[in-house]
Amino acid sequence: MLLIKNGRVLDPASNTDAPRDLLLDGEHIADISAPGKITHADSAQAFDAAGFIVAPGFIDMHAHLREPGQENSETIETGSHAAARGGFTAICCMPNTRPVNDNASITRFIVDRAKAFGHVRVWPIGAASIGSKGEGISEIAAMHDAGIVAVSDDGKPIATAKLARQIMDYCRSLDVPVIEHAEDVSLAAGAVMREGIASTRLGLPGMPAAAESVCVARDVQLAELTGARLHIAHLSAKSSLAQVRFAKQNGLRVTCEVTPHHFTLIDEDVSYDSKYKMNPPLGAREDREALLEGLADGTVDAIATDHAPHEPAIKDVEFDKAPFGILGFETAIGLALEQLVHSGRITLMRMVELFTTGPARVLGKERKLNIGEPGDITIFSLDRPWTYSVKESASKSRNSPFDGRSFKGGPAATIVAGKIAFKN
Ligand SMILES: [Zn+2]
Repeated sequence: MLLIKNGRVLDPASNTDAPRDLLLDGEHIADISAPGKITHADSAQAFDAAGFIVAPGFIDMHAHLREPGQENSETIETGSHAAARGGFTAICCMPNTRPVNDNASITRFIVDRAKAFGHVRVWPIGAASIGSKGEGISEIAAMHDAGIVAVSDDGKPIATAKLARQIMDYCRSLDVPVIEHAEDVSLAAGAVMREGIASTRLGLPGMPAAAESVCVARDVQLAELTGARLHIAHLSAKSSLAQVRFAKQNGLRVTCEVTPHHFTLIDEDVSYDSKYKMNPPLGAREDREALLEGLADGTVDAIATDHAPHEPAIKDVEFDKAPFGILGFETAIGLALEQLVHSGRITLMRMVELFTTGPARVLGKERKLNIGEPGDITIFSLDRPWTYSVKESASKSRNSPFDGRSFKGGPAATIVAGKIAFKN
């Protein structure tokens, strides 16, 4: 038993913001009461959360764990360890491993490895098409039985509108969300950053914002045609957000996520350092402003990291040769507090929602602090000063543009199924 005492409990599901003690027994929440009122917990291990926020377990619905196939960059063990250190109790891993997670035997491999070595819950996402090649539909029903929570060809878009329609039709019947990496590959071809004044100044090939929003528009229309649940991954452009807002106003089941790096950085921050190379690339100042508005007004459903480790041997090369992607788990809460809460853009409750009930709803799950619910808890501070040092990361990779950045507030403890997975 674990008794979390004297914390400030924030639970978006019940709109609770109050001092509470929380008793975990086995894997579940056994009691939640005013401070000092839980009396039947003498044998419980005590955790003093005075001065900390106690929230439902944070979910990161977009990550790359690189196993199987690229274990020099990350494994399920190291990636989930980094996730625990970042305050996440559950993470969804994208299928672009080697081999691609496009069938039930790979899904079972990931589920089994996560059970044996995972520090947090790992929920796999299956490939939408065979090999994510965009030609034929993958074994979605079998993968669903094996434990996937969504499908995606992430790393690239579902190749054609015709195939996207078939996948949405099929996933609607299974009630599985389709997660789209929205990109028109003809507009993005050869580009390494966003097209604009910054790309001209650096002399690097850029893709326009429309490379994303053209694909979002295609998929929103297909979501209307099929009635499917469509989720736009790592949305980065103002014009894409307008499409999602329109879809929601028209009652479509369309949702989206935004990454910490897209709400923190812009194209003007890009230098020739490959740690600023990600896909979608960092947007313009007005895109970031639109994302901040969407995070505040409810258009954005979730904050997701797109944690994308690459070992130094392949990432620390010239900008145009480096692969896309950066680490995300361990800096997510610090960046969200800095950019969203301390800046006064959103309330602390809304921030917690974007990490808990928001992604849970997208995935068809629940997240709340009630008796009988899973004992998944994220505890974080609002004001403790700390500095991120990437060489201390639990990840196998080091590709973060936030190395050396100082934060005010961050993860303090991560509790998964009643057990402490991380404590600072
Ligand atoms: Zn992607």
